[in-house]
Amino acid sequence: CCYGISYVVQAQEQPAYKNASLAVEVRVKDLLGRMSVEEKAGQLNQLSGGAFTGPALNEAGQQTKIQWVKEGKVGSMLNVIGVAETRAIQQIAVEQSRWGIPLLFGLDVIHGYKTIFPIPLAEACSFNLAQVQQNATVAAAEAAAAGIHWTFAPMCDISNDPRWGRVMEGIGEDPWYGALLSAARVKGFQGNLDEQHILACVKHFAGYGAVEAGREYNNTDMSRVALWNKYLPPYQAAVEAGAATVMNGFNVFEGVPVSASKYLVTDVLKSKWGFKGFLVSDWNSFGEMVQWGYAADGQDAVVKAINAGSMMDMESKINITYIPTLLKQGKITQQQLDDAVGRVLAVKFRLGLFEQPYKYNSTEREQRLIFSAAHRAEALKAARASVVLLKNNQQSLPLRKTGQQLAVIGHYANSKEDLFDFWAAMGESKNAVTLLDGMQQKWGSKAITYAAGYSADGNTTDALVQEAVAAARKADVLVVNVGITGKLAGEDRAVANPVIPEGQLRLLKALRATGKPLIAVVSAGRPLVLTALEPLADAIVYAWILGTETGNALADVLSGDYNPAGKTVMSFPVAVGQIPVYYNHTNTGRPLPTDDQGNWFSRYRDIPNEPLYPFGYGLSYTSFAYSNLSLQDTLPAKGKPVQVRVTVTNTGTRDGEEVVQLYIRDHSAGIVRPVKELKGFQKVLLKKGESRQLHFTLTEEDLSYYDANGDKQIEPGRFSVFVGGNSKEVLEAQFRKVE
Ligand code: BGC
Repeated sequence: CCYGISYVVQAQEQPAYKNASLAVEVRVKDLLGRMSVEEKAGQLNQLSGGAFTGPALNEAGQQTKIQWVKEGKVGSMLNVIGVAETRAIQQIAVEQSRWGIPLLFGLDVIHGYKTIFPIPLAEACSFNLAQVQQNATVAAAEAAAAGIHWTFAPMCDISNDPRWGRVMEGIGEDPWYGALLSAARVKGFQGNLDEQHILACVKHFAGYGAVEAGREYNNTDMSRVALWNKYLPPYQAAVEAGAATVMNGFNVFEGVPVSASKYLVTDVLKSKWGFKGFLVSDWNSFGEMVQWGYAADGQDAVVKAINAGSMMDMESKINITYIPTLLKQGKITQQQLDDAVGRVLAVKFRLGLFEQPYKYNSTEREQRLIFSAAHRAEALKAARASVVLLKNNQQSLPLRKTGQQLAVIGHYANSKEDLFDFWAAMGESKNAVTLLDGMQQKWGSKAITYAAGYSADGNTTDALVQEAVAAARKADVLVVNVGITGKLAGEDRAVANPVIPEGQLRLLKALRATGKPLIAVVSAGRPLVLTALEPLADAIVYAWILGTETGNALADVLSGDYNPAGKTVMSFPVAVGQIPVYYNHTNTGRPLPTDDQGNWFSRYRDIPNEPLYPFGYGLSYTSFAYSNLSLQDTLPAKGKPVQVRVTVTNTGTRDGEEVVQLYIRDHSAGIVRPVKELKGFQKVLLKKGESRQLHFTLTEEDLSYYDANGDKQIEPGRFSVFVGGNSKEVLEAQFRKVE
């Protein structure tokens, strides 16, 4: 009986916020009512973690962090790794802080946790959204098993600049496809928000992909129509897909650091899009307002961030320092503070962390799921689908599986060290499969001779070249892995010259002189300028950065066990000076005609306007022909969708997949529109000789654009529809939209 009584008493005393049967809003309100201002500021304070067990505890700052957690001055930590560590510090938050509010653990799980998938830019080239979503699901399952609740992905920044090291993390140059990718990634990471999934974070809001000259942390400057039409759609799609969080960028918009942009944060994200989750700054982006010359000091930066509607502070530590004083001084309001803190708490309630603070920390799942055979199989599928075949003269590829000797040349082909990029989370390159490993597995070690040809930095020596040439002379075919190290892909990895390094070109020329067929496999986290490589190779396989299964995927492609079907989502520039080059540019008043060079045009006098390989380009071991593009109506009635039909035929000798792409052009509009905009694609498998009629529908929405206020405009006038296997080689039909 006594047990029963004490139970009843306890139940009555249980604060509402601890009662899981109450609505989240009720629990949030109750908890907000109990917390001090310092504790509220704490929920808006995110610290980079480190370790909380063992000798690491003596490292500078760890004891202070523990003390802060006890005092409720920390809401979230990033970079705390593994079940044991996340559990140790979570236990302090839950058992020793006044209200027992659990911490959120965040980590950059960009393309895998331990099983590393292709970089996001590469997986985008698969044009397989189900696969992209699945990749994120696997990454989430592994990270969640290690106690992580939250990834700082997807990166939804459109970029046209391969000098920027972060293009690897993104979606390429197309806003429409970028929106689909971003939504797929959010769904994959978040799923139903159980302990097998993690929160997504839409970054870097907004427009960070426009950093001038591709230099990290640099200025951005754009019009509102560019913002709305080119940059915002992927962030918006990710928010609409239910992303729980959004990250402010490092950049400025209209001269205002985006963490302090009321227009972006409050007017667009919260009001227009109705975003209900919370925002986190980028690393010290609140604090950096001072260096930008926008805030006088840290205190001023907090005033500006909070008044704009921004919330959690990653690592500046200025929210926790100044919020209590600023509230007293009336420089920020109670309502602003409670709104921000309430959003953070709501996420913690929704994840069920108050009831089960360790639900993500599972040694059993950590052991069973992380780097499992099933996950590696998914990574292999994803890696194969990401490869883009750029050139294949006289069917140099695929390689025969028997009866010939292969020389595999290139330091990167045999270097696990250079395989992974900066954002490979907990991936261990020692467990990754190199090109050489994969090819030896497929062809047998006896069929392969290896030579490094150049060293880790891309430079070469006479001795390395001679050794490679000697190996080449003994071989029937040369597979040469060139490009740049994975270490040069990611944050703070901008390069002014995204090219094939000189030393590698010297090697390639020497190898070319042997007269042997030369297959170039290019590894890089960005499109490189391939103009110098192009005449030196019979075939070019663009491998990007493919992750754990790199070598197995490439061996499948080179052998023809997998028929490549990837299409590039960034244009490949002809020269560095051509950057930025992208397919969805405007026409200019002086477009360069193909037949008349006798006048003054928008062009370069030394290089063409066209990129070396355009957006959407990629070959297969079979070939495809397009015919019979037809529109049901050339004058469709108002509001009626436009029906497009096209026939695609596999004209080659193998079964193969093709990404059939549909573009439009609005010939006259209230603002100048791009010469082509992707508005549809279908990835189809066609048997050799098979012909299929495909059907696309273009809605009013597809034909609209945004004005400077972010309102959609649909106007009458002439439109073109283009269909083809890339953005350049297309069939065209036209229709007129009526008033
Ligand atoms: C990057 C973000 C990243 C964050 C946390 C920043 O420097 O810009 O993309 O999520 O660090 O690691």
